[in-house]
Amino acid sequence: MSERGDMAGQVAIVTGGGTGIGRACSLAFAAAGAHVAVNYSRSQAEAEGTAQECRAAGGGEAVAIRADVASAAEIDRLVAETVERWGRIDTLVNNAGTTVFAPYDDLDAMTEEAWDRLLAINLKAPFFASRAVAPHMKRGGHGSIVNVASIAGLRPVGSSVAYCASKAAVLSLTQSLATALGPEIRVNAVAPGFIETRWHAGRAMNADAARERTPLQRNGTPEDVAEVVLFLATSATFVTGEIVVIDGGRFLQ
Ligand code: NAP
Repeated sequence: MSERGDMAGQVAIVTGGGTGIGRACSLAFAAAGAHVAVNYSRSQAEAEGTAQECRAAGGGEAVAIRADVASAAEIDRLVAETVERWGRIDTLVNNAGTTVFAPYDDLDAMTEEAWDRLLAINLKAPFFASRAVAPHMKRGGHGSIVNVASIAGLRPVGSSVAYCASKAAVLSLTQSLATALGPEIRVNAVAPGFIETRWHAGRAMNADAARERTPLQRNGTPEDVAEVVLFLATSATFVTGEIVVIDGGRFLQ
């Protein structure tokens, strides 16, 4: 983990930053001294709680900002509010995500409406958020974008066909944007394995099965992911277009 002070005076936006992996990223940036925009769409209490924790943890400010990232207009407003408040953007974490849990052979479970919602949040949002922050990062001379993908984007191990496809597309998006946005902006992705968050609420069997298949014999924590996100955002200055798998070795099996 980088030492506190690495991001002093810098500004980070974390979509879905109030819960789970996003919360851990918000706290890691705050501990490094950044101002943090903690985005949420429904989880207001969690986002405000995380913003409060950020203020307590770091030297920077933090605020919870409601915006449904399925809408490009709302993303633009989220970015505009952040710039209005702090005047710059150094880091964007495209973490907000959703899924439909459906057996792969139940094609009827994947309705057109479910596909549209899932792609809007998991795939379109990282593009439109990157588009919105890019001019501000370029104006500042540097920036880092980290997309939270999944090992489901590399192999069919996720919650549904559409979820896997959306995360695979995010990996492609990461490479395309890395090509498009250099030299000022680096764009990388993390591909977490099974991370214990509310995402898996009510599915204890899945947690046990994932742990058994993992060489490191445990499931991940949000902090395991945030540590790598912080590294990509602040330290890995010659790394762009890369995917870092964070799964305790589960992908090897
Ligand atoms: P989580 O706590 O449920 O996080 C999902 C976050 O996305 C929530 O903060 C949620 O906020 C936000 N979100 C969803 N729709 C949104 C929208 N339309 N606009 C704004 N925010 C929205 O679960 P998590 O495990 O931390 O998941 C975070 C990311 O990690 C997701 O992209 C997920 O695909 C990825 N991931 C998770 C795992 C895992 O095992 N947990 C593994 C690989 C990848 P609201 O409640 O306010 O909508």
